[in-house]
Amino acid sequence: MTVIDEPAAAVAAGRCVTARSLAVPGRDRTMANHPGPCAWCDYPLADLARMVDGFNAWAGWDERRRTYDRHDARVFQDLPRAEQERRIVEAQGFDLVAPTVVEAAAPVADLDDIDLEAWA
Ligand SMILES: [Zn+2]
Repeated sequence: MTVIDEPAAAVAAGRCVTARSLAVPGRDRTMANHPGPCAWCDYPLADLARMVDGFNAWAGWDERRRTYDRHDARVFQDLPRAEQERRIVEAQGFDLVAPTVVEAAAPVADLDDIDLEAWA
């Protein structure tokens, strides 16, 4: 089983577990922080929940004090909220398929730039 040892990935996986656990059968598994299928949606729900629990055990999460023992997790917890969110959204992997890069076509000449007299 995959082990999560990165705090942002653990939160991303946790959001996926929550959204899928609360999903109404037959409806999409979306929430504000899980607006569509994420990179974790392919994992079976029970396995993903165990992976999140495994991270919390590895990181030494203390539910009562709401703190971690593991240094990496404490560093993440101390980041500004906006930076935490940026890393979590990145770990959710919504943009797994990079947009196709299309070579820019040569600009079409403006009619005003064409010397029509030359063609007469
Ligand atoms: Zn998901």
